[in-house]
Amino acid sequence: MLAVMRAPRTYTREDTVEVYCHGGALLLHRILDLLIRQGARLAEPGEFTKWAFLSGRIDLTQAEAVMDLIRAKTEAGQRAALAQLDGALHRRITLLRDEAVHLLAEIEAGIDFTEEDIQFLSYEQMRTQLAEMADRVEALLKTAASGKAVREGIATAIIGRPNVGKSSLLNALLMQNRAIVTPVPGTTRDVIEEYLNLDGIPLRIMDTAGLRDTDDIVEREGVIRTRNAIKQADFVILMLDASQGLGPEEARLLEETAEKRRLIAFNKVDLLSEASSVQVRADAAQKLPGTIVFISAVTGEGLEELRGAVLKQIRSGIVTSGDREAMINARHKAMLLQAKTYIENAISSVDKNASGDLIAMDIRTAVDRLGEITGTTTTEDLLDKIFKEFCIGK
Ligand code: GDP
Repeated sequence: MLAVMRAPRTYTREDTVEVYCHGGALLLHRILDLLIRQGARLAEPGEFTKWAFLSGRIDLTQAEAVMDLIRAKTEAGQRAALAQLDGALHRRITLLRDEAVHLLAEIEAGIDFTEEDIQFLSYEQMRTQLAEMADRVEALLKTAASGKAVREGIATAIIGRPNVGKSSLLNALLMQNRAIVTPVPGTTRDVIEEYLNLDGIPLRIMDTAGLRDTDDIVEREGVIRTRNAIKQADFVILMLDASQGLGPEEARLLEETAEKRRLIAFNKVDLLSEASSVQVRADAAQKLPGTIVFISAVTGEGLEELRGAVLKQIRSGIVTSGDREAMINARHKAMLLQAKTYIENAISSVDKNASGDLIAMDIRTAVDRLGEITGTTTTEDLLDKIFKEFCIGK
């Protein structure tokens, strides 16, 4: 069956034909061969979306949103991608850039007419407008943490001595949580990672296994691995064994994770008598800093509390409720930071009553950086970099 879609109301704005057939590799190949013999060729990764961009149907942020949508790991991530596809970020950047262009035009007009002593914009007016632009760039920059969290997940390391119950905790959390998102292999990353969906925030669980052997060399390797995991983690769950005292190894782990966003979980509380349970809790509250929860990965006791505590910790600085809002990615962030610097340069030139030329120069660069976000100004390199992340057929 063929679906014929006429330009320009298609994904790429070109004439498009989709072929539907029965499954089976041989059948597909024969149809594909036939098409190629008739002059068709295989698409490159992301080529359809690239055409959609080049034909002006969508901007770069929307093209990126297609990728985000495919990769989304939770519904919150999906909603954020859809908002961006719908133009949430496109509109904010375009508005900002238009205003900068407008300001630039006024300043440049002022330069052309200096002879006639016409003052188009006072320094004060320029300053007000620039300061407002800087504020709005800053507001967008603030969405970077949320954007990173919903796109990539929070890199989470469960750290602890061998046998404290790290795997048991992970399994308990995964079992309890039916909404695990199946990772999509083969789109870009070959590694399949484990994601835990915590209220729409994906926790990317980092592998710290392989610490269980007691052989010296392996043990040392384990320490290195743990250290690496701690370094890369956005968030650390440090597990301690409630049924045993705190030794030098625990002290080391506490110290190594001190600078991290961290939660301390005492596991195996089911092994404690009532009296020792009271004792352990009192001791912990007295000796250890930060949030502490008491759990049993085996009975499930305290797991709800742990989830709540994890959420509370990782939510600080992350907003996921504003689903319809734009949330920037790393590329947007880099451009916005540069735009901000140039706007600030312009502001300090204004403060020094510098010439219009000098002020205009910085604003022009800021305009270019904003344009790079949406793809108004772009290079072949940038496009290659963005679209090579896509899978074939998108
Ligand atoms: P890991 O080496 O830190 O990953 O530890 P495991 O999850 O493999 O657990 C080590 C052992 O401790 C296993 O025999 C688990 O059944 C046991 N274990 C883990 N959590 C608990 C718990 O909360 N209570 C009890 N009683 N045993 C536990």
